[in-house]
Amino acid sequence: MHRWNNRYGSRRTRRKKTAAETHAHLESKYNLPPGSYKSMWVAQRGLCPICDDVLVRPHVDHDHVSGVVRGILCHRCNPGIGMLKDSVENLRRAEKYLAHALGTV
Ligand SMILES: [Zn+2]
Repeated sequence: MHRWNNRYGSRRTRRKKTAAETHAHLESKYNLPPGSYKSMWVAQRGLCPICDDVLVRPHVDHDHVSGVVRGILCHRCNPGIGMLKDSVENLRRAEKYLAHALGTV
């Protein structure tokens, strides 16, 4: 057996999901109506609403308690707000801290 024939399938038969398949998977995972992922993407113009970077490795941002989807963030900002416990107050304190440290206040 060729070394690429592992439990994930052979290199030859494995194929990248189409955008439509990825959208359908995410809509199912986050209980979103069909077409809503693409609508969010278009509304955000394919950009992260926090850092304004192009969404190359997008993450669906959702409330971990209610499950409500808030938007699509980049692979840095989504874990970033999670590390600050999804707290607006923590984000404000982080802003003050960083502005003071950078001497911009
Ligand atoms: Zn971002």
